[in-house]
Amino acid sequence: MACDYLQLATAGVQGLHPYLPGKPIAELEREYGVSNIIKLASNENPLGSSPAAVNAVRGGLDELWLYPDANGFELKQALSSQLDVTPDCITLGNGSNDVLVLLAEAWLSPAHNAVFSQYCFAVYPIATQAAGAEARIAPALPADSDMPLGHDLQAMATRIDADTRLVFVANPNNPTGTWLDNTELRDFVANVPETCLVVIDEAYLEYAGEGQGSDAAAWLVEFPNLVVTRTFSKAYGLAGLRVGYALSSPQIAAVLNRVRQPFNVNVLALLAAEAALTDHDFLQRTKTANDQGMQQLQSGLKDLGMSTIPSAGNFILVDMGREAMPVYDALLQRSVIVRPVGNYGLDRHLRITIGTQAQNATLLNALADVYS
Ligand SMILES: *Cc1c(COP(=O)(O)O)cnc(C)c1O
Repeated sequence: MACDYLQLATAGVQGLHPYLPGKPIAELEREYGVSNIIKLASNENPLGSSPAAVNAVRGGLDELWLYPDANGFELKQALSSQLDVTPDCITLGNGSNDVLVLLAEAWLSPAHNAVFSQYCFAVYPIATQAAGAEARIAPALPADSDMPLGHDLQAMATRIDADTRLVFVANPNNPTGTWLDNTELRDFVANVPETCLVVIDEAYLEYAGEGQGSDAAAWLVEFPNLVVTRTFSKAYGLAGLRVGYALSSPQIAAVLNRVRQPFNVNVLALLAAEAALTDHDFLQRTKTANDQGMQQLQSGLKDLGMSTIPSAGNFILVDMGREAMPVYDALLQRSVIVRPVGNYGLDRHLRITIGTQAQNATLLNALADVYS
């Protein structure tokens, strides 16, 4: 009789549910036999990658036999000068997901709790659960508020106590797209006890418009318990390479450096990220395309009678007006992959990444067909 290895796992891991990724294009091809697939499921950049980054990767192909620079010196230098922080404030990660998990590994245990919002990014509850810590979930703002399903900072603040080691805030948030007022967010950070780290996840910062994003990196000098996480996966179009980073006080960065795998960011990712930082043209084209695509989708979805949640990201959460899974399946049959959000407790919504103009039009046509 074989052992039950789940029963032998730690209590935290026993209660864990795996992250549900967007369906890969090749998988839909295999399962449904469809072609010309459009994937609007994982908030990837529809323009591809920064060409400067792709060139840098080509230049790095002769270095694959070497371990990467464990300290990521060059990338940290580039980030340091662009962001006006010292290199010892930077922790590089295998995607910002890596950094989020490192934070949980370093500060959470069964004796501690982490606070986050209902409908927040799925990695916060997973990292908390894996560490065996208590998850304190603050109810989101109501559907009829100005920022439907967004973070309620007051509700989050009341859940923080002496045993809270991490509070996760996504600005803008995924899967909702909602954002926080900069002044209110700063006040929130100022009132969190110093024993609790405030993690502000800015994965979509580059997309946020005027008055939508936070200015959290500028607050690092004031708040030694503040951590800001960012990624090259979204606006820089490097999701496949896995590179992101955290900004924090040097003391927090030094703790993260203890739990970090020494070579957590690979040779190609380091080179690509450094080059992408200089590619202002790609970033600008990305933002312009996203703004246009957001308008196109918002008005097209409205014409179909669907309501959407305001979004400052490169995706949009749509109320399908009915159970969403059959709609998701019907879209798969029409070669369009979007993202179900039932795992977030949103059974009637789908999350749709902003695509190119042509992709958005295809999606809208497919939806019109499904709803006809
Ligand atoms: C995509 C995403 C991330 C991280 O992605 P990585 O690819 O691991 O850098 C982090 N936070 C949010 C809210 C995201 O949507």
